[in-house]
Formats: sequence, structure tokens, C-alpha cells
Amino acid sequence: MRWTETFPRTGLRARRLWFTLHARDPVDLGSSPGAALRGALLEALAERGHPPASCPATCPLCLLTASDPAWLRGRELPRPVTIEAASRGARPGESWQFGLTLLGPAREEHAGFCAGVARAAERGIGRGRGRSTLVAVGDGPPFGERDIDDQAVAAAVWPSAQLTLLFHSPLRLTAGRQLVHQVDLAVLVQRLIERIAALSLRYGRPELGWEEWQALSRSLAGQAATIRLVGENTRWQEAFSTSCRSGRRTPLGGIVGWACWEGAVEPLLPWLRWGEVLHVGKGAVKGNGWFGLVLGDSG
Ligand SMILES: [Zn+2]
Repeated sequence: MRWTETFPRTGLRARRLWFTLHARDPVDLGSSPGAALRGALLEALAERGHPPASCPATCPLCLLTASDPAWLRGRELPRPVTIEAASRGARPGESWQFGLTLLGPAREEHAGFCAGVARAAERGIGRGRGRSTLVAVGDGPPFGERDIDDQAVAAAVWPSAQLTLLFHSPLRLTAGRQLVHQVDLAVLVQRLIERIAALSLRYGRPELGWEEWQALSRSLAGQAATIRLVGENTRWQEAFSTSCRSGRRTPLGGIVGWACWEGAVEPLLPWLRWGEVLHVGKGAVKGNGWFGLVLGDSG
């Protein structure tokens, strides 16, 4: 029996929406474009208030802001939304794009999120509140709305001894409460499995409990530690988000660039495929930890 037949299912469904906007004013999303997008979306959603029909189960505002004291002790409640900031800004007349990935209950309210984006664009986003018009919403890369468990397993049977990760936005990982400044596949895999576990336990129909996920995380991190880093071009990108209400600055800096590994990568591939959708590390809801997976020769 191939190991993929026993691959644990998360029961999570995801949908990545890809928005195309037309800038009417200069749009400047600053050093943390994902945080600027999230802030503008939150304000637009708050203006409409909590929709009674969907609050709290699938309410966009609640999913982005609510806390739950009963959630796994000492752990942050995972948000079922990630942002993929593909542009840092645009000049008037230009198009610009970004993605919004909705997981679990957030998928059901995709119309509410789309309306929020349209309203945010009209109100203005980023420094100087540059206004845009939402012109199109499509399904985003890597695979729109599909069963990601199946897609992840499909990735695992790809014959490859090499993998490359492209860090599109800052990768901010911690190990033992310390920030990790060098790219480290074992730490990345551990944080990724913890994130998948948390999202699956909260919003999916997981086949594993928290302890089993932790055991899987340790085993995959051990596997990742045997894989050789064969090339990289990374740097630390400093970034902050500033809360409009409190004025408090939250650090969002992390690693950007690319790194390439060789070795027995196969067991990691389904999880990395998941990670392309879910992001990894701190600040995913503010656009951090968005990466792409390239298999085979990196060229
Ligand atoms: Zn609500």
C-alpha cells in the first residue's frame, strides 16, 4: 500500500478568489500590502455591520475578528482567511490584483467578502486612500475551488528529488519563541503542520486529533532535516502593520526570495501543496507566508 492511501484528510475546503481592480487614484499599499488590504476590508465590512443571517457562524466580520477563549490554550485562533498581495500599488488607469483565500465557513460567505472588497476599493485602500473600481473576480492560483486534500495527494506522487520554494511575501517563523532569520525547512514544515492542524480542527473534519498532528509534525520535521539545501537567494524584509484604532505597530518582517532543496522530498509534498493555499508562519491573515512550490529542476 502506498503511504498516500493513508494520508490524513483535513476535511477543509478552500476557495481562492482573485480580484482585479482598476486604479482611479494613485494606489500605494506601503511596506505591508497584505495588512493594508486586510485593514481596508475590515473597515468596509464593519461599515455594513454583522449580517444577521450569517452571524456568527459564517459572518465575515466575526471570522476575521472574533476570539474564542475555549480554543486550544495558549494558541491563537486561526483565521479562515488569507490575503495574497500580488501588487504593491498602481498608478491611475492601471490594473492591480490580489487574492483572498476563504477556508471552511468563510467560503460560504464569499459573496459578502466580494461585496466588502468592492466597497473597500470605492472607499480607498492604503496610504492616501487611493480609490479603485473592482472589475473582475476569478478563481485564483494554484487551483481555485477544489478539494485540496485530493490535490495535495496528487502532488505527492510527482516524481521529484528536488523542490524549490518561492517566498512571495515575508516568511515569519519562530522556533522556541525565537524568530528564525535563515530559511529552515524543518521549522517551516513544523509550523505548517501546526497551522494545517489548527485550521482543520477548527473548520474542517479532521481525521487526526491534536496529539496525532503533533506526532506527524515531529516525524515530518525529522524527514525535512535530512533534506539538503542546495541553493538559495533570500533576504530579510522588514515590515510592520499599524492598527488604526490603537496606533500599535505589529512587526511583520520575514524572509523573502527562494530556496531549493534536494533529497527524499516526497513525504513533504502534499503538505507543501497545502501550504501554497494556507500560507505558513505569522501574519497569514495580513498576507505573510505566501509561497509557491516548484518541483523538479529549479533551472
Ligand atoms: Zn458577526
